[in-house]
Amino acid sequence: MPIRPIVKYGDPVLHGPAAHVEAVDESVRALFDDMVATMWAAPGIGLAAPQIGVGLRVIVVDLSVGEDPAQLIKLANPVLVEAEGEQKHEEGCLSIPGYGGSPRRPARVVVRGLDESGQEREYAGTDLLARAFCHEIDHIDGRLFVDRLSPLKRDLLKRKLRKRAREGWEE
Ligand SMILES: [Zn+2]
Repeated sequence: MPIRPIVKYGDPVLHGPAAHVEAVDESVRALFDDMVATMWAAPGIGLAAPQIGVGLRVIVVDLSVGEDPAQLIKLANPVLVEAEGEQKHEEGCLSIPGYGGSPRRPARVVVRGLDESGQEREYAGTDLLARAFCHEIDHIDGRLFVDRLSPLKRDLLKRKLRKRAREGWEE
């Protein structure tokens, strides 16, 4: 399970929609493994394939960050099938290190997608899990939390991030 470099804000793979997964085959299973290893190492509670430079609709979420195998979720072609209520909490993103923002999210969601054996799976999530699902599904649509902030905050942060991207994200 190699840990892959995380792509940062400004890379085109993060800013456009990812491609549908045609079949959950060995290459997609290997992708899931790399994503889980990369998410845990970061450490993070979610990762989308574009964040390691792969333009496919694949996400992983693990609120326990490797502590509890039952909380590890791997989905190809995830879609929100239900969304209700509203919440607003600070979010960060491994692709935008050092910056945060509080986008509006649904309070409860139901997500449907394919697991690593290609079986359809459905997960319901509230609170942090709902936010993680929405954040990662946004990624495969080419949308970042920044894009969901109020216009004033969005423009201010985007100006800073464009500058960071021009200068290079390496510390
Ligand atoms: Zn993110």
